[in-house]
Amino acid sequence: MSHTRFNAIEALAHRNDFDINFVEQPSDPISDYFGKNVFGDRVMKKYLPEEAYIKVKAAIQAGSKLSRDVANEVAYAMKQWAMDKGATHFAHWFQPLTGRTAEKHDSFFTLDRNGQAIEEFSGDVLAQQEPDGSSFPGGGLRSTFEARGYTAWDPSSPAFILEVGNGKTLCIPTIFVTYSGEALDYKLPLLKSQAYVEQAALEVCQYFDLGATKVQTTLGWEQEYFLVDEAMFNARPDLVLAGRTLVGKYSPKGQQLDDHYFGSIPERVFAFMRDLEIECHQLGIPARTRHNEVGPGQYELAPMFEEVNVAVDHNQLLMDLMERVARRHKLRVLLHEKPFGGVNGSGKHNNWSMATNTGVNLLSPGKEPNKNLRFLTFFVNTIQAVYRYADLLRASVASAGNDHRLGANEAPPAIISVFIGETLTQVLDNIEEGAEDSVEDVKRVLDLLSQVPNLEKDNTDRNRTSPFAFTGNKFEIRMVGSQMNCSAPMTVMNTIVGRQLRDFKRAVDAQIEQGRDKDTAILNVIESYIVESKAIRFEGDGYSQAWEDEAAKRGLTNAKNTPEALKSYISDSTKELLVNSGVMSKTELEAHYDVKVENYILTIQIEARTLGELCTNYILPAALDYQTRIANNLITLQEAGLESELLKVQTTLLKNMQHHISIMQTTAEQMIEERKVANKLEDLEERADMYCNKVRPLMETIRYHADKIEHYMDDQEWPLVKYREMMFIR
Ligand code: ADP
Ligand code: MG
Repeated sequence: MSHTRFNAIEALAHRNDFDINFVEQPSDPISDYFGKNVFGDRVMKKYLPEEAYIKVKAAIQAGSKLSRDVANEVAYAMKQWAMDKGATHFAHWFQPLTGRTAEKHDSFFTLDRNGQAIEEFSGDVLAQQEPDGSSFPGGGLRSTFEARGYTAWDPSSPAFILEVGNGKTLCIPTIFVTYSGEALDYKLPLLKSQAYVEQAALEVCQYFDLGATKVQTTLGWEQEYFLVDEAMFNARPDLVLAGRTLVGKYSPKGQQLDDHYFGSIPERVFAFMRDLEIECHQLGIPARTRHNEVGPGQYELAPMFEEVNVAVDHNQLLMDLMERVARRHKLRVLLHEKPFGGVNGSGKHNNWSMATNTGVNLLSPGKEPNKNLRFLTFFVNTIQAVYRYADLLRASVASAGNDHRLGANEAPPAIISVFIGETLTQVLDNIEEGAEDSVEDVKRVLDLLSQVPNLEKDNTDRNRTSPFAFTGNKFEIRMVGSQMNCSAPMTVMNTIVGRQLRDFKRAVDAQIEQGRDKDTAILNVIESYIVESKAIRFEGDGYSQAWEDEAAKRGLTNAKNTPEALKSYISDSTKELLVNSGVMSKTELEAHYDVKVENYILTIQIEARTLGELCTNYILPAALDYQTRIANNLITLQEAGLESELLKVQTTLLKNMQHHISIMQTTAEQMIEERKVANKLEDLEERADMYCNKVRPLMETIRYHADKIEHYMDDQEWPLVKYREMMFIR
């Protein structure tokens, strides 16, 4: 008898005793407490001398370094503010390549030279720290000459106070680097890529008289997640260890009725969401929408978009908050891309655009025709960039978890294509058909474009099967996995568009030098891109086999798994791009690649081990017991004189059980052997290939047979919490 499972169900039955509304809704409007735990503009103004405040603002705007004096003043102000709010400690908050966040807490408290207790926080300590980070993955970056990693303050993302229980910590967003400044994190390449694309975009803006002095890239993410009850979670070793279920028969009721999507939110979940949103708002995360998602037990949270670096930090912080808040509600949040087989997975759409400091969204079609050459420029250049570097974009979202989504016939396919909707397709086709080399052509195209904004967001949001879609005034990158750090895909977007805009400017300037007028030159270059990048545009069903065949004919890459996709991280074209743009050095690229490959191997290894344990220690013993019961029943009935003709149910069941038990168990043994072989391989890539092509398929086989056993077994003796129990009981 499987006590754990039934205890969990029992615990769930008593959840009514637990008051879910223990968090009081603040009576003030959100705008009153929004950002109350953030060292933001208002706070800085209040706590800093005016001169220092002006200097800090200017440095943040320009992305330049702060002098030591100013850093000291900021540190003093931060400490004052944090202590006024009850914080006792501070922490450099950073994003190691594991994909989550890390922090090392230090107290403000110290003893001065005379042994007097004081609170202290200097500019030096604010600016740089040396966390004992030698166990964070560095892909060999540090091992050769310097084991330590350093964190350095990122003033462009505001510090905040994290409340855990009754403790409050001042958290300072930082980059994480080696002694010689190589990135051990996601933030440093992201910041460099932002500077790179923003400069390129600003230069292109000069063609259009926008009066802009700065361009910012913007990100609005949409975070999908599942919730399960804490007791259910704890009764599933695979959820605890691997973040996803490795076995489990599909529930008789799944998502076929589509009744969950935009259905009413269960009260318990609603209480969690409210609590989470209050925390978000206090921390300056502009959470706005919440709703059910397609899968049962699946939800989404989306904020207002922000400047990319801050948006990424907010997403990292959110994932942290979600886990903490869920625990308070006796829930667990599942951020894995595919916690349940046969049910929709979770992604994190990244809405990406660029805006000027004069408030112009560069990807928004304007109402006046003469503004639309600007729109067309940024729009077509983005498509051209994705066309040129599709493989790199694919690599940036590759992970063991995301392999369950990309190319697995749900969510976006692994083939990168761009969806732009009917109207814009017509516009581009029309440009392609014309010669585009006279002032009349420019006029014709602009007239054509003036119809675009009237078409609302037209049909651009409709094609959900596209991995990369234009949605009215931004591009939506749908391949990002739910538990990923958005930095990698955002770094790639920024860099490829930055490079593309530079190439564009060079081509246009060359034509202008030859005496062509500016607008005609722009249109002419755009036309050449429209022709060149045509293969990447696709408006049809991205999930269909027909598209896979068509894409192959077009020469588009279809990297179905992580080891294959990751290879373009270290291809010559990637190295050329990232090194020349100054975003990452060759060493950094190779190190980050190694970390990603290693992470892939470790993930599958943990899953495979956990699955082996589930089979041998949970499913097999229960199945054997059940078989004995049937066998005893058979013998008893035979002894009672029933002829074999009448005992077919028992014999068939016995045989079926035996069939699945023996294949499950022999495959599990085989999987262990394959792992042993893989683990002995010196070469990282060979090991990853083996985990991918040998171990993973065996896991599928094992699961198939385990699920069959679940199908035949007495429900009362099945040892693991079932899908229907995890996903539907509230
Ligand atoms: P919906 O899809 O619900 O109609 P929107 O299209 O306005 O809503 O926004 C969807 C997501 O896109 C949100 O997370 C939002 O913050 C983001 N978004 C909207 N505009 C931009 C932009 N200019 N840059 C980046 N993200 C944006
Ligand atoms: Mg969307």
